[in-house]
This record gives sequence, C-alpha cells and structure tokens, in this order.
Amino acid sequence: MKIVITGAAGFLGSHLAERFLDAGHEVIGVDNFITGSRENAEYLDRFDGFRLIEHDVSVPLFLDDDIDGVLHFASPASPVDYLELPIQTLKVGSLGTQNMLGLAKAKGARFLLASTSEVYGDPQVHPQPETYWGHVNPVGPRGVYDEAKRFAEAMTMAYHTYHGLDTRIVRIFNTYGPRMRPGDGRVVSNFIVQALRGDPITIYGDGQQTRSFCYVKDEVEGIFRLFHSDRVQPVNIGNPHEFTIRQLADIVLEETGSESALDSLPMPVDDPKVRQPDISVAKALLDWEPKVDLRAGIRQTLSYFQEQLTRFDAKARTI
Ligand code: NAD
Ligand code: UDP
Repeated sequence: MKIVITGAAGFLGSHLAERFLDAGHEVIGVDNFITGSRENAEYLDRFDGFRLIEHDVSVPLFLDDDIDGVLHFASPASPVDYLELPIQTLKVGSLGTQNMLGLAKAKGARFLLASTSEVYGDPQVHPQPETYWGHVNPVGPRGVYDEAKRFAEAMTMAYHTYHGLDTRIVRIFNTYGPRMRPGDGRVVSNFIVQALRGDPITIYGDGQQTRSFCYVKDEVEGIFRLFHSDRVQPVNIGNPHEFTIRQLADIVLEETGSESALDSLPMPVDDPKVRQPDISVAKALLDWEPKVDLRAGIRQTLSYFQEQLTRFDAKARTI
C-alpha cells in the first residue's frame, strides 16, 4: 500500500510511519515542521519507501500518486504548543482535516483521524468510554485544540455518511517515548529533562490530577490495528493504568536516580482533573492492549533524552 501520513516529522507520526514502512508499505510524509523535528524526518529518509513533502495541510494538497490510506496526524499536540499556536491548531483540525478527507476521497483511500482523549474535556464520567460525549469549555484556552478535534471527528463522520468514505477515528490518550521534543512541554518530557538536569520538577497544582500514560510502541500498534480493522466509530487507544502527576514525578526521580526538588506551580486553566481510557472496545475488536508499563516505558525513554541533552549541551558550548 501507499500511505500518506500528515505530521510525519512529529513524535507519533514518525513512529507510525516507521510501523508502516517496517510492514513493507510506502509512506509519503507531509509536514510543515511547525512542531516537528528535522531529525525525525531524516531518520525516516533512511527507508527506501519513504518520501517527505514539506507542506501546510491547512492548504489543499494535490498528489499524482495512487494512494491507499491517509492518516491525519498533523496538529500541535502539547498544551504549550497549542496555546502558542491557537489559530494554526484550529486550522489544521478543521481546514486540514477537510483537505485530507478530500485527498482520501479523490484517491478512494481509507482515512484515519488522529483524535484525542481531549474530546472528553474535563470528564464527568470516569473512566471514559467512547460513548461519553465529553465536557469541554469551547471558549477556554484549551478549546482551540479540543473543539478542533471534535469538529474533525464530526467532519470525518460526515464524509463517511454522505460520501461513503472509508474512515477510522482513534482517540489517543497521553502517549510518551523517544522522539518527543525535549522542550515540547508535556509532562513526561518535562519531568525526564528536569530530572536528568537536576532542575526542579515542575508540578502544576497539587499534583493529584491523574493521567494514564501509554508507551509509544503500544500506542502505534493499536492505531495500526485500527487502521486495518473495519470499525468506523471512534476507538480509545491508551493505557488504562492511571497515575497522579505526583506519582509520575516519583517514578521519574526513582528511575533517573535524580535528586531534583519538587516545585509547585499554578494549575493551568481548565486542566482536566482525571483521565483514564476504557479500552474494552479496542480489546474486543482489535485484540489489543498495552504491554509496556510506565516504569519500563520511562526506562526505555531515558537514553533518548540523555542523548538529546548531551547533544544540545555540546552545541551550546560551541556557540
Ligand atoms: P507533535 O507536535 O510531535 O507532531 C505533530 C506534527 O504535525 C509535527 O511534526 C508538526 O510539524 C505537524 N503539523 C502541525 N500542523 C501542521 C500543518 N498545518 N501542516 C503540516 N504539518 C503540521 O505531536 P504528536 O504528539 O506526535 O501528535 C500527533 C497527533 O496525535 C496530533 O494530531 C495529536 O493531536 C494527536 N494526539 C497525540 C497525543 C499524544 O499523547 N502524543 C494524544 C492525543 C492525540
Ligand atoms: N503537568 C505538570 N507539570 C509539567 C507539565 C504538565 O504538572 O511540567 C501536568 C498538567 O497540568 C496536566 C498533566 O501534567 O495535569 C498532563 O499534562 P500534559 O501537558 O502532558 O498533557 P495534557 O494531558 O494536559 O494534555
């Protein structure tokens, strides 16, 4: 198959591209590098079946190739990024999704949308099954991301219903691992970088809010299986083991052996208090569940960040 992956220079997109390349498919990555990394794209360039197009998918994209699948992963994803890039985030979730649905329709290709647990907002149902409609503040700071993804889901279902497009929607829960940008601002990368540097660990609020963290290899395997399934309704893919942010800090400190202090900072506006996927649908339909627990995943991620920091510090010394 020949597959288009938008956001291929990003964290998840690059791992997903590698999964398809490893399975013998060709991948066209599309990225404008707004939050992506040249290093991720260069890594994928080593595969014969990979080619990258530098393009903003909020603008239509026309390709001569026959395409079998379009997986739309382009979007700022870290709260720090999407708060800095609110309009770009709304555009890539709305216009970008419509353009990529249009590309899939023109090519008769299957379309998969990277949606998010953020469609559940600050949830009042816990854990969150796919049937929960969510609790989102449309005019709060996080609304630019949450509402863009909710619109993207609605647009994807409309292309399915009205155009008969073959579509999939994955609701991704907090995922971490190698190839995240050290400065991307999400909690796992922040805590690991802070611990490795001996800087204070920045805990927002009292640290009692929860998240459920999935190692990237597990996440990508679930998405790969969903793409190959016949499920049109959204599917949660995430690790159901729930941790407080304070527990995460303790695990990172133990696994790094760091003596960083804990620093208490204000809680961001509308920060969800809890988050945990109900993955019964993924288990039953995709025969999928995560295999890597949080400690093992953190251990597998440490050497990547160590290398990034060594390189960054070496570069800083030569400037
Ligand atoms: P990321 O920031 O590492 O990657 C996003 C990529 O999209 C970047 O390479 C960026 O340059 C590219 N991009 C953004 N806007 C673009 C545009 N207009 N045109 C072309 N390229 C553009 O983020 P990620 O963590 O890899 O997230 C990937 C996708 O998965 C996003 O859609 C995100 O909403 C979704 N998601 C991720 C998580 C997670 O925990 N990582 C959780 C839920 C949903
Ligand atoms: N968080 C934190 N310290 C940080 C970064 C994040 O305490 O340095 C908290 C944040 O307030 C949230 C959780 O960690 O409650 C997860 O944040 P992240 O930005 O990773 O993603 P979110 O799940 O909020 O989209």
